Amino acid sequence: MRISKEFTFDSAHFLKDYHGKCENLHGHTYRMRVTIEGDMQANGLVMDFAELKRIVNEKVVDVWDHANINDTLEHASVENMCVWAWDQLKPELPNLTEIRIWETANSFAIYDGR
Ligand SMILES: [Zn+2]
Repeated sequence: MRISKEFTFDSAHFLKDYHGKCENLHGHTYRMRVTIEGDMQANGLVMDFAELKRIVNEKVVDVWDHANINDTLEHASVENMCVWAWDQLKPELPNLTEIRIWETANSFAIYDGR
């Protein structure tokens, strides 16, 4: 069984070594989906959504919301953001399965640790 929770945050970024719209500092409302996998427990839950929310907010969203992603990552692409978020969350969520981050409604990256 898999469960997911979605988060949104507003952040600034620019892309280094890139020529196009995203080379200058600007903002996005990012959307992130965190998915974990596990057996349903006797209480009918894989994991308490409130606990999942607490961990993801503390480790990732609170760092990036209303901040410049380039303060965390030299190359502030959604691809690198997925890897960074994975590295922050995996120790807290051993059954983390997938992270998706949308930069726009139609453009996103998916990372599953590989
Ligand atoms: Zn951008």
